[in-house]
Amino acid sequence: MAKHQTRSDNEKDQKDNLRIRAFLRHRLMNRDRNTWRIVAAALTAVVITGSSIAYASTGSDNAQEQASIPGDAAHHTYKPQDDTDPTPPNDEAEDEEEKEDDKDDEKSKSDDEKSKDSSEGDDSAEKKPEPSPEPEVNEPDWQLPSSARISSQFGQRWGTMHNGADFAANMGSDVSAIGDGTVTFTGWNGGFGQLVIIDHGNGVTSYYGHNSQLNVSEGQSVSKGETIAAVGSTGDSTGPHIHLEIRINGEPTDPLAWLRERDVDV
Ligand SMILES: [Zn+2]
Repeated sequence: MAKHQTRSDNEKDQKDNLRIRAFLRHRLMNRDRNTWRIVAAALTAVVITGSSIAYASTGSDNAQEQASIPGDAAHHTYKPQDDTDPTPPNDEAEDEEEKEDDKDDEKSKSDDEKSKDSSEGDDSAEKKPEPSPEPEVNEPDWQLPSSARISSQFGQRWGTMHNGADFAANMGSDVSAIGDGTVTFTGWNGGFGQLVIIDHGNGVTSYYGHNSQLNVSEGQSVSKGETIAAVGSTGDSTGPHIHLEIRINGEPTDPLAWLRERDVDV
């Protein structure tokens, strides 16, 4: 831009001028582009005319008026009288700088959006593991009648059908209700010996055989885990154990499989 420059003080003015404009740019960056261009042009005019002769008399007023004309008109009207004309190259440079500024703005904007997006992504990624407050000891509605070892499974046994599962519990230990329900039978029942039957609703009943002692009576409501009897060896039994049956609408089913399907750890 200084290719026609002949005087060093003019160069200096231009440098000052640019410096001031750069300062102004920062302050006015977000304002209307025309507004800051006018202000910058006015400043240009003031500095340029200040270094020439006519500043005191007409310069500043003219500069104000001329500067209020936007765009190219302003550039041409306050062309300095002397040999150099720094305005056009300056303004070209300014335009390019403006474009660059605009680019930077957009770039930083898109960067912001990106970082926003990525942070949102992080949020959603962090939220993913959240839908697991349910594993807070969601206890099943059912349980085993005893923690004792299972000594015999449901199914064919020695040529006859075994309709339940046996738990080799100690004599006199607790027999627990496998779920909430109502006691529908207590007493002696053939091979079952001392028997308790609980109705759990929906056609589900549970049978507890061979007890030595009965702790509940017919019609009584019981809760899962409640002690309903003491382990014995009454009826068709060769040793103390609990014979558990689960019947669906009267039909015996594999009690361990049935409980396992209901999240009981068998
Ligand atoms: Zn049995």
